[in-house]
Amino acid sequence: MRVLIGGGSGFVGRELTRLLRNKGHEVTVISRQPGPGKISWAELESGGLPPCEGAVNLAGENIMNPLRWWNESYKKDLFSSRIDTTKTLAQAIAASASPPRSWVLVSGVACYQPSLTAEYTEDSEWTPFDLLSKLVKEWEAAALLPESVAKTTKQVVIRPGAVLGRDGGAMKQMLLPFWLGLGGTLGSGRQPFPWIHVSDLAGIIAHALEPPADTPSTSPQVFNGVAPALNTNYEFTKELGRVLRRPTVFPVPAFVMNTLMGSERAVILTQGQKVIPKRTQEAGFQYEYPDLTSALKEIVGS
Ligand code: NDP
Repeated sequence: MRVLIGGGSGFVGRELTRLLRNKGHEVTVISRQPGPGKISWAELESGGLPPCEGAVNLAGENIMNPLRWWNESYKKDLFSSRIDTTKTLAQAIAASASPPRSWVLVSGVACYQPSLTAEYTEDSEWTPFDLLSKLVKEWEAAALLPESVAKTTKQVVIRPGAVLGRDGGAMKQMLLPFWLGLGGTLGSGRQPFPWIHVSDLAGIIAHALEPPADTPSTSPQVFNGVAPALNTNYEFTKELGRVLRRPTVFPVPAFVMNTLMGSERAVILTQGQKVIPKRTQEAGFQYEYPDLTSALKEIVGS
């Protein structure tokens, strides 16, 4: 299968590319930077969709970019980098004489309202309630294909929690302070912490890319990209400290996080949702890292 990956040069994209190539698939990345095995977004717009059987979008300005202050220009980039790239790919798929069999968007769990008690599956109803849920709404809407194309191209949306892996995402920023013994719970620590190991997320995307067996439904299939273990921030903090053999006695209060990161963004860490991967498990996906201990041991030991 030939797979086109928007933002495939990033943290999740590198893992997905490795997995797909190991399975014998061909990967082309859409990137802002030229390079071998890549095309640019401008080339996609002007030249149309290159021949492919699967397409994925992973492009987006990093929401945890430590080098950027939380301001209007950053928020605008978070929206446009996701929505514009998704729209560009969806339009290229719709305009193609030979559209791919599957089209996968990776969005996020920010659509589910943070709660200490509510549990969310892929069937849970939701309406936007804050900036990040509004982003997810517009992002997923940008991926929708016209009905005529959706009759042959399977549309999938995967909503991951915090993606854990050594080479990027949240762990890259957390490992040093935890190694130095400066780690601690964030906010109350009681908030749910939905997470997934990067290898499992790549596996779920690869699973979603498989061509549909029957005529696909014209609305997207949603999969929660989280591990089945439901953990809190406290459990995550303690387990990371245990695996690293470091103390975790420096809690960071929510107001400090809000001041440092901006409250609209700090919500990702200071609050959380209990997300259940109901459909992901029903689809038969086998997790390599279903629990925190196995995931963190792999990350810290690698
Ligand atoms: P990365 O931060 O690694 O970014 C992916 C790619 O996006 C980059 O390699 C870059 O490609 C492209 N990109 C970055 N900024 C822009 C921009 N301003 N305009 C256009 N393209 C841009 O992302 P991840 O791999 O960590 O995540 C993949 C997707 O999954 C993202 O959409 C993210 O929001 C979502 N997600 C990630 C989570 C995580 O914990 N990592 C959690 C939940 C969702 P290039 O430089 O080649 O153009």
